[in-house]
Amino acid sequence: MKYAIVLILGVLFATTLLCDGQKTKNKLKSKNKVRTTVAPQLARLDLQKAEPCSAAKCKLPDCRCSDATLPRPKFKGKEQEIPQFVTITFDDAVNAVNYAQYDLLFDGLTNPDGCPATGTFFLSHEYTDYVRVNALYNAGHEIALHSVTHGDGTDYWREADIDTIESEFGAQLQILETFAKVDPKKIQGMRLPFLQISGNKTFEAVKSLGLTYDSSWPTQQFKNPPMWPYTLDYLSVQDCQIGPCPNAELPGVWVNPMVTWTDTEGYSCSMIDACAYPPADEIDALFEWMLENFNRHYQSNRAPFGMYLHAAWFSRGRNNFAAFKKFVHHLSTYPDVYMTGISRMLEYVKKPVLGEPFKSCEVKPKTQCQAVHCNVQKTSTGEIRYMSVCDKCPIVYPWLKNPLGLDM
Ligand SMILES: [Zn+2]
Repeated sequence: MKYAIVLILGVLFATTLLCDGQKTKNKLKSKNKVRTTVAPQLARLDLQKAEPCSAAKCKLPDCRCSDATLPRPKFKGKEQEIPQFVTITFDDAVNAVNYAQYDLLFDGLTNPDGCPATGTFFLSHEYTDYVRVNALYNAGHEIALHSVTHGDGTDYWREADIDTIESEFGAQLQILETFAKVDPKKIQGMRLPFLQISGNKTFEAVKSLGLTYDSSWPTQQFKNPPMWPYTLDYLSVQDCQIGPCPNAELPGVWVNPMVTWTDTEGYSCSMIDACAYPPADEIDALFEWMLENFNRHYQSNRAPFGMYLHAAWFSRGRNNFAAFKKFVHHLSTYPDVYMTGISRMLEYVKKPVLGEPFKSCEVKPKTQCQAVHCNVQKTSTGEIRYMSVCDKCPIVYPWLKNPLGLDM
């Protein structure tokens, strides 16, 4: 019954679902070598052109070559003992309707170590219900950044300078800290709207905002065997699908590549809901298709399997939600499949082992959130926005240059 209500509400609200800090100054390591400086896309940091990676120079836990096909070379022949990570991510606003779906999806779902299965939420600001974000956070999910404004098309992001990227993602970080009580130190990742990166600048912003990773860069070429996450200390071999892609040395910045899925006609899709030819709207057909995509990871080098989507997809077909739920519950029966946030998965990639990946569960935050409901004006348009936040209403609707919604 609960499920039926969620589906009906989902259809009703499908249109609204469709939307599409603190700073750490880091200095790049200087090396005593003559190098060429990277050409046009450069900016604030003194960037050097990245050199090809070699395993001898690039070592875990802080450096990983993009062409390393296993967590450690010595795992060769023991692929079946590598834990299979599954990273389920949702982009855009969290609201009452999709929150109910998320709650239902993860309810009772556990990993082989007994810890709860979790996902990652890349949050954009407009229409987001921060009380529900706080609930997701307290339930152990990863909260990550997807900008304040979501931008006005791909051009905005392709041409964004570092100040714009820092401001979009830094302001969203402040909003999450203030209105959803999320510890900013727990926010480690970002994803660009439309997956539109802007070369080195995106990854410089990852560094300057004190984040660990970006997960916006799809790969079609490295899906069989699939690509593992890596750092930008050295030149990436990843295919550049939505350029410009980075070419500078950016030590310690992690890329979680979006390994594409294959649809029923053989085309690649970076997100599940972007597949041009998904299977028929039947639970079994959808389930089998998800399993085929999963097996390309599980039966080869066990690179993390990404299930990237927008909640709006659940309302797009009658059986999408049920099939998705059936599939993740199927995954939870495997003895070696772990559904975690991306940052938790990266902890494993930094210190990979065979068998059980972690010694203990992540400690869930226990933040207090007194829900308040606010009607505040969006100053750029004069519209009144309804907003649910923890503890205290802002004076105006928070936005890019005024993330705390102060009276300015
Ligand atoms: Zn988005």
